[in-house]
Amino acid sequence: MTTHLYENALFLEHKVPEGHPERPDRLRALNLALEHPNFAPLKRIEASRGSAELVLLAHTEEHLRSIARAIPEDDISQIEADTYASPSSFEAALTGIGGAVAAVDAVFTGEADNAFVAARPPGHHAEKNKAMGFCFFNTIAIAARHAQKAHGVERVAIVDWDVHHGNGTQDIFWNDPSVLFCSTHQMPLYPGTGAKEETGARNNIVNAPLSPNSGSEHFRDAFRSRVLVALDNFRPDLVLISAGFDAHYRDPLAQINLVAEDFDWATGRLMEAAGKSAGNRVVSMLEGGYDLQGLAESAALHISRLMRG
Ligand SMILES: [Zn+2]
Repeated sequence: MTTHLYENALFLEHKVPEGHPERPDRLRALNLALEHPNFAPLKRIEASRGSAELVLLAHTEEHLRSIARAIPEDDISQIEADTYASPSSFEAALTGIGGAVAAVDAVFTGEADNAFVAARPPGHHAEKNKAMGFCFFNTIAIAARHAQKAHGVERVAIVDWDVHHGNGTQDIFWNDPSVLFCSTHQMPLYPGTGAKEETGARNNIVNAPLSPNSGSEHFRDAFRSRVLVALDNFRPDLVLISAGFDAHYRDPLAQINLVAEDFDWATGRLMEAAGKSAGNRVVSMLEGGYDLQGLAESAALHISRLMRG
């Protein structure tokens, strides 16, 4: 498989207060893991800035303007309860979107079979009109809409295995049967959404909540019986992954207690699904993951699997 990885030094310039879990060191830890010779064949590409018009594929103009206004000229400002911005945060968020859109383009032109976007801030909590949970713009939702608009794709599946529910992605696609959104997440946990009964207005949302201390077996069961079955029925043209690694047992924010190999396994299953209907096209984007060792090990196995097939 040809795998692209999209990155940019700007992603380290999105600063947060001391002690905040979603910190630049997360990407430094991943970069260190990627120095292993196994990753030599990985094609690493500097992401370019996405346009403000791309943001409007998933958000209101009001939201775009309110984020732009909230960016401080120096120091760090608080956007909402958990979300902070520094002077480079807006550019970092737009560059993450640029990377995601370039990754989608690469899998449709055939330049890459699959891709990983190593960006921050993350995106899956951002709703149409609301920044939330460390997220400004919903990068994965924008990528899905871009695939439909620029590549004429009918059906996009988004699988979100971040330990927190992707409320923002669910909000954006609630009424949109062209996008299947499947999420495994801990419940109860922030942000509180993601019950099984939340299926979308058009039955295009599949939530598989897991109790604290579920562990690998329950995760894999839910993934097989809920997520993979839904993917088989939907037959997507593109598979997008909201790849958070905070379900790892070392993570300080949650208690699902997965091991790094579970992310390798889940990646393999999604690649099989993409092989059936999506010409192997998989684009994965970093969401959460707050223990540096757990994040680095898990993301490294995830990317290795993307490269290996
Ligand atoms: Zn998370």
